[in-house]
Amino acid sequence: MAIYNPKSLKAEEFINDGEILATLEYAEQNKNNIELIDAILEKARPKKNGNGVTCAGLTHREASVLLACDIPEKIEEIYKIAEEIKLAFYGNRIVMFAPLYLSNYCVNGCVYCPYHLKNKHIARKKLTQDEVKAEVIALQDMGHKRLAIEAGEDPKNNPIEYILECIKTIYSVHHKNGDIRRVNVNIAATTVENYRKLKEAGIGTYILFQETYHKESYLKLHPTGPKHDYDYHTEAMDRAMEGGIDDVGLGVLFGLELYKYEFAGLIMHAEHLEAVHGVGPHTISVPRIKKADDIDPTAFDNSISDEIFAKITACIRLAVPYTGMIISTRETEATRTKLLRLGISQVSGGSRTSVGGYTQDERPHDTEQFDVSDQRTLDEVVAWLMENGHIPSFCTACYREGRTGDRFMSLCKNGQILNCCHPNALMTLTEYLVDYASDKTKEIGYKLIEEELEKIPNEKVKAIAIDNIENIKNSNRRDFRF
Ligand code: SAM
Repeated sequence: MAIYNPKSLKAEEFINDGEILATLEYAEQNKNNIELIDAILEKARPKKNGNGVTCAGLTHREASVLLACDIPEKIEEIYKIAEEIKLAFYGNRIVMFAPLYLSNYCVNGCVYCPYHLKNKHIARKKLTQDEVKAEVIALQDMGHKRLAIEAGEDPKNNPIEYILECIKTIYSVHHKNGDIRRVNVNIAATTVENYRKLKEAGIGTYILFQETYHKESYLKLHPTGPKHDYDYHTEAMDRAMEGGIDDVGLGVLFGLELYKYEFAGLIMHAEHLEAVHGVGPHTISVPRIKKADDIDPTAFDNSISDEIFAKITACIRLAVPYTGMIISTRETEATRTKLLRLGISQVSGGSRTSVGGYTQDERPHDTEQFDVSDQRTLDEVVAWLMENGHIPSFCTACYREGRTGDRFMSLCKNGQILNCCHPNALMTLTEYLVDYASDKTKEIGYKLIEEELEKIPNEKVKAIAIDNIENIKNSNRRDFRF
């Protein structure tokens, strides 16, 4: 039997079934242990430290106790601390992105995904480079600056060379005042050599959802194809790090397995990355299974309620305070509104999950990966965020200034966010308002920017930000950043 070791590079040792089961038992035994719960909450709370704020985070065992706890006042406290952490490290900024589907050819048999090989009624499509350009222009015309590219796994149709060519094309398109400044990549687990190529192509985050940490279920849910190899999939982030990618994004597809098991596995994965590479995950995504062609979400009996989903999100926020958290348009406006208060720092907007979807007038369904619940335009999403007190940010400065991995984390910890990320958010929001927003969104936005500029503590930084914003409004100069 494998022994738990967070520093091991073997999947079964750092995501250890025995340790997860022992954690769940410990959490169950302590879910009403008020003294312990209070001590865990105290540990999770952000603390002032010199100029900055620090947060201890929680171990997978501590975080699992909070997740198991059903005491309403304690849950309220978890939510309150989640919001405090989000505000302490990310402020009221919400980073915007959109997915771009390159190809839905896939050789895997994932039973929850409509792209699975045996699905014969879904149309298969792979974008040509001209089509990639057209999609990118459509995305730039919406106002997007940051994309997550998505593709099925198919060594013949979507080899790494194809993905690299698409990345090059995406970065090369400059339409009007638009450009894509950060391409995150969500493709199947691959080799160190391929991760190195992705790094050299200038990608931002490498995202790979674990889907489920439960090995036995994983093997059943991925019955055929290269993705069937649980160890290769689970160890992918270590290979990505070895290939030089230090911003990696984790995620679980909630609904496949028991959520408490997944939660413990997810936090253990974050602990493993920290223990081995000295840097935790850059982001964590929290997708839930959605209806799709050939996929009925009710066939998966581990689906979670909105209440549990909120609790999971908040507990992740407490456990890994410096990690960005992403919620996609799989969720409705109402769910997204609630989760934004519990630690989410990144949302997608105006998304289409079909191959070639952005260049179509009507939302196409023939090549779609899943139903999009939040179908609002990016302009509507931006306005909604601002009306809810958030600053939509199109900033991509960090990785372009080399602030990746632990360098990004130290910016967070040193309290420099208000002098750096905050003005960057306001400048990129101004770009969005000037170039793409409706009159209504412009009105809300300019007012918000004026108020938010006052929060920049360093007077010199504030003066530069004001000057840059004037430049954006009165000229075609763009892409200012700290
Ligand atoms: N083929 C890649 C891989 O194996 O990781 C790339 C990503 S796939 C396009 C993106 C993610 O969509 C998957 O990792 C999965 O978690 C999620 N997904 C698949 N089917 C889904 C469904 N029916 N509802 C919601 N999300 C789904």
